[in-house]
Amino acid sequence: MMKTGTTMVEDTEENRQICRNTCRACPTYKHNSLERYQPDALFCARGTTSVPSPKELNCYCPACELYTKHSLVIGHFCVRQ
Ligand code: SF4
Ligand code: SF4
Repeated sequence: MMKTGTTMVEDTEENRQICRNTCRACPTYKHNSLERYQPDALFCARGTTSVPSPKELNCYCPACELYTKHSLVIGHFCVRQ
């Protein structure tokens, strides 16, 4: 979901690492074992997971520094965009 003020998140190794700190702790990530599929992080830049029919639980994106920095909204980038 894009809104005015939202800026693109760049796909860099640094951003992937920032993402992992948040996404890997979240219930949706753990429940669906998202580390086993590509993309395994930085869903807001790289698109949704390739897990078939992932179950959507809580999302921790609003706690991520990239979410704030890029004025992202909604979250759950691993399952819908
Ligand atoms: S906003 Fe969410 S998907 Fe994007 S880098 Fe942060 S934790 Fe990862
Ligand atoms: S995008 Fe949101 S719901 Fe998906 S793994 Fe990251 S924090 Fe969890």
